[in-house]
Amino acid sequence: MKAVLPDVMTAKLQELLGPSGFLTDAESLTAYGQDWTRIAEPAPSGVVLPTSTTQVQAIVSLARSHKVALVPSGGRTGLSGGAVAARGELVLSLARMNKVLGIDPVGRSLTCEAGAVTAMVQEAARDQGLMYPVDFASSGSSQIGGNIATNAGGIQVIRYGMTRNWVTGLKVVTGTGELLDLNKGLLKNNTGLDFRHLMIGSEGVLGIIVEATLALTTPPANPKVLVLGVPSMNAIMSVLEHCQAALPLLAFEFFSDLALDKVISAHGLQQPLQGRYPFYALVEFEEVNPDVDREVLALVEKCMASGWVGDAVLSHNEAQRRSLWRLREDISGTIARWTPYKNDIATTVAQVPALLARVEKLIETRYADLEVVWYGHIGDGNLHLNILCPETMSVDEFQQHCKSVSTELFTILADLGGSVSAEHGVGLLKKEFLGYSRSQFEIDLMRSIKREFDPDGILNPGKVI
Ligand SMILES: Cc1cc2nc3c(=O)[nH]c(=O)nc-3n(C[C@H](O)[C@H](O)[C@H](O)COP(=O)(O)OP(=O)(O)OC[C@H]3O[C@@H](n4cnc5c(N)ncnc54)[C@H](O)[C@@H]3O)c2cc1C
Repeated sequence: MKAVLPDVMTAKLQELLGPSGFLTDAESLTAYGQDWTRIAEPAPSGVVLPTSTTQVQAIVSLARSHKVALVPSGGRTGLSGGAVAARGELVLSLARMNKVLGIDPVGRSLTCEAGAVTAMVQEAARDQGLMYPVDFASSGSSQIGGNIATNAGGIQVIRYGMTRNWVTGLKVVTGTGELLDLNKGLLKNNTGLDFRHLMIGSEGVLGIIVEATLALTTPPANPKVLVLGVPSMNAIMSVLEHCQAALPLLAFEFFSDLALDKVISAHGLQQPLQGRYPFYALVEFEEVNPDVDREVLALVEKCMASGWVGDAVLSHNEAQRRSLWRLREDISGTIARWTPYKNDIATTVAQVPALLARVEKLIETRYADLEVVWYGHIGDGNLHLNILCPETMSVDEFQQHCKSVSTELFTILADLGGSVSAEHGVGLLKKEFLGYSRSQFEIDLMRSIKREFDPDGILNPGKVI
């Protein structure tokens, strides 16, 4: 692949896209060449911002004939380096293909261009009394195309599942410039292999998503939030079991006291409970009938009597619900200044206690002198383990140290049949560790599938596989 754009291609891109659709200034190259990971120096050769599918196809054809690598780019909130362009690639940003094209209230679906910002799509659904339920702290910047390319999860997976569950149609430009129109919004379509599902979670290595049709649902009735102070991770699992049995759950999240401390100090928020606890569970549920409050009270009393919970607070209005959610949602943004080494890991929910016991031991021995911030979507088996870089250590030295511990962590995960990337994807960050979760045969199959969709290897080369 070429690291510098050939002059003839530059001229054709200028002609195709005009000055606002083809950027080469230093500021744009830096901004569009990186995602949230900041793991590599951004060094793209240019940024193209098409406004139509036809332009995307023309860009792919040019890249193909000139052997130029393309990095499909969404909101660049990714946490695996998938949208990073550090080797002279051309960034293909969907930012100008951002329209909601239509909503079908009877079929309960929404069709949008891939660059539509997730929060905009959620709002468009809300305006029709419906809901697009995939949600997370970065939804104000991430794009639907990026969410589909990473099969994003988020805070309500326990109730609604991942992005995959909500995609009923996809238009994708492959590495040959062909336009695939996949599943066309159908709810039932058993006509052979479903390429839509290959594209979901493919992190830009198989095709460029240009349009999506998404299923919508009914919003939950009166959601409420309960925050519980919990003495141990094992106690959280007992609380989860009882909450699942007693409440119409929407989310079951957790965070450690250090995570809470960082958020409270950074944003000047109130402590949610009188005392401090090693861990906190944030439980969101739907108030489907007036008896739910009584059931919550009974549940909290039972958990306290069993020693699983020390104290609890329940939201009584929307403002309180939102401010309790901030304690969890603001963690990722707050700790970003310590350049955390992020591990986004998962096991089956049943295996979580075994994983925790082994990982906590590993942390005690290998990260004894480092700050460790735990949080995550524990209700679906997904934990975020963040190691903070101390001020006395260089980021490089810190990353090397953490990487060596990661191999021990991933050995534990492999042993339990878990995943080295629960929801952030593989990108650059997890590529060398993919073998801990997928067999060599599977990785080889992924490579041969890529060759079918992208025979010249121009789509996001060097990522995932
Ligand atoms: C504060 C914060 C909280 C987060 N919380 C969560 C969370 O709870 N759950 C979760 O799953 N993630 C979370 N993330 C990660 C991130 O927001 C998601 O991975 C999101 O889906 C990325 O979307 P994006 O548009 O920013 O994609 P980008 O970062 O731009 O790209 C991600 C990948 O998708 C590819 N891509 C982008 N657009 C396209 C397209 N149109 N066609 C083909 N490939 C494309 C890129 O090449 C790259 O490989 C969080 C991130 C932050 C910063």
